[in-house]
Amino acid sequence: MKVTTENLSNLAWDKMEGLLPCIVQDAASGKILMQGFMNKDAVNASLDSGKVTFFSRSKNRLWTKGESSSNFLNLVELSVDCDQDSLIALAHPDGPTCHTGTETCWHDGTAQPEISFISDLERVIASRKGADADSSYTASLYASGIKRIAQKVGEEGVETALAATVQDLEELKNESADLIYHLLVLLQASDLSLSDVIGVLKKRHAK
Ligand code: AMP
Ligand code: ZN
Ligand code: ZN
Ligand code: ZN
Repeated sequence: MKVTTENLSNLAWDKMEGLLPCIVQDAASGKILMQGFMNKDAVNASLDSGKVTFFSRSKNRLWTKGESSSNFLNLVELSVDCDQDSLIALAHPDGPTCHTGTETCWHDGTAQPEISFISDLERVIASRKGADADSSYTASLYASGIKRIAQKVGEEGVETALAATVQDLEELKNESADLIYHLLVLLQASDLSLSDVIGVLKKRHAK
């Protein structure tokens, strides 16, 4: 259930002695970023400001994540579970969430969904924009221009289709990888992202 200023008093505050655990999840990648505790004031402050705000037990006060680092967590939606005692905050991070400088507080590669690798790949592809053409293959693709990138997507699409036609499964996996990679480059070169495409897919799904 979505938490709002209207229903937040219905959460299991008494049972939890005023403090609910809150997992912060990246709204785009699905990665688990961090975990903290929220009291009623922290929930209110998060909803009011749109920045994820915890009650810090060590600081013994409200703590807006990013207040000194500027690595804020921009709240998309706050949800509570079936028995109202556990929160998930979907958010867009402004920067690394962990105080150690890593993207998430689980920085040994565990606990992250497989599909979030696409987000990692898209970020690397985006970061190559404007780089020296001979510094990487992606940078050379950008430099070759939109028509050349579009042509590559067409070629990889045909190669994927051919591999499927003859049921060469190793080739189908390889060509699918080529296709997805080049499509991500084409989107970035057009100043679009996977998120824009997912928006379209979701709209269709709703129909
Ligand atoms: P910040 O809220 O990012 O400005 O960080 C302020 C302080 O909060 C840091 O110096 C850390 O002590 C602590 N802190 C920041 N991020 C985290 C985190 N993800 N988990 C635990 N403590 C944190
Ligand atoms: Zn629960
Ligand atoms: Zn951390
Ligand atoms: Zn190919």
